[in-house]
Amino acid sequence: MKFRCLRCSQKIGVEDHAIGVVIVCPTCAERLIVPPRPDSEFVEEIPVTLVPPAPPAAPPNLARQLMTRLVEGLIFQRNHMLETQNAAAEQIAAMEQRVAVIQTKLQRRLAYYEERIETLEAENYLLQHRNKQLLKQVKQVPLGTPPRMARSRLTDEVLLGA
Ligand SMILES: [Zn+2]
Repeated sequence: MKFRCLRCSQKIGVEDHAIGVVIVCPTCAERLIVPPRPDSEFVEEIPVTLVPPAPPAAPPNLARQLMTRLVEGLIFQRNHMLETQNAAAEQIAAMEQRVAVIQTKLQRRLAYYEERIETLEAENYLLQHRNKQLLKQVKQVPLGTPPRMARSRLTDEVLLGA
């Protein structure tokens, strides 16, 4: 089948099964779709379509806009992250402060209890010592003395001490 290049009118011959295939003109390098039928001068008049030019790449403006939007999005995310981080840091600081206050209170209370225990232990020691002395005295009370009065007085003292 034969047809002419739309640009340079070069006569081009192709196999019939090449209909619809894009070819390149051997003379001017125009890209052409092989028409479904031969040109009119070869048989009848048939319009031949030029291959539409490849769409231009995205204009640099659009690319720049996309990039700007992407960067703005990233900056927004980063700011948001920083805000979240700062809020978390503040909360942690507040919590640490509260823990420190509680720790101080507990330490004071612990110190108070330790002191109190020491005092009670000392008192206990003194009372035990005093009890021993009193018991000794009870044993040493002469048999001749009126037992009831002497013993009961001393026993009361022992009981009080305990
Ligand atoms: Zn051509």
